[in-house]
Amino acid sequence: MIRLYVESALSPGAVVEASEAQAHYLGGVMRRAVGDIVHLFNGTDGEWACRIATLARGKSALAVEVQVRSQAEEPGPWLVFAVLKRDTTDLVVQKATELGVSALLPVFTERTNAARVNLDRLRAIATEAAEQSERLTVPDIRPARQLHDLLRDWPTDRALHVAQERADAQPLGRAEGAAGLLIGPEGGFGPRDHAMLDRCRFVRAVSLGPRILRAETAAIAGLALLQAPRCG
Ligand code: SAM
Repeated sequence: MIRLYVESALSPGAVVEASEAQAHYLGGVMRRAVGDIVHLFNGTDGEWACRIATLARGKSALAVEVQVRSQAEEPGPWLVFAVLKRDTTDLVVQKATELGVSALLPVFTERTNAARVNLDRLRAIATEAAEQSERLTVPDIRPARQLHDLLRDWPTDRALHVAQERADAQPLGRAEGAAGLLIGPEGGFGPRDHAMLDRCRFVRAVSLGPRILRAETAAIAGLALLQAPRCG
């Protein structure tokens, strides 16, 4: 079943205009036609079966019919990650979305090499991953900021698990309650980053095992551990 994220309200009888890219995807890529069913979700109204009413030349209108899933909360962890090279950042955003994060917060650290982040591109990747992984929400992607600013504004009731290789850190396990995971850049955290992190009461240094993982591997492994299902 094709699932598409839209920003329009979804209710019985509503008609939703697909974007040009979605219309192209429906007609040109997936070879769907007028009368076919597509599922739409918008992050607030659940998921709806919709019938393609029109589809031609990069335009499509979808008639909303029946709700197939009601909206449910998706209170996943926040992933804070030092901005990486473009392809690696894309991978982190895609996999973190599949793994259920509710927010992605790119940061610049002492040893971050990238100077900027293309938020529109990251939002498109997260949207596609949310559609594919049957989520009902798309994670919030915040503008990239300096680590210092992020720590200053961090909600102190949310534990921030900072992945630190080569440190005397506790193994990362399942987190109860609101949590964040911070992953450093390719070159690791620098002394100024460590000094800032050490001053924050909500920070907890965590280990992902004895090997030095690439940042993207660390993000994926860390998110899996943080949300590991309870046994029994
Ligand atoms: N250049 C660093 C070094 O050789 O020590 C390695 C940095 S690692 C490629 C990138 C990030 O992944 C680190 O800043 C850390 O957040 C995370 N990471 C990698 N391996 C880890 C491990 N075993 N435990 C915890 N965090 C890890």
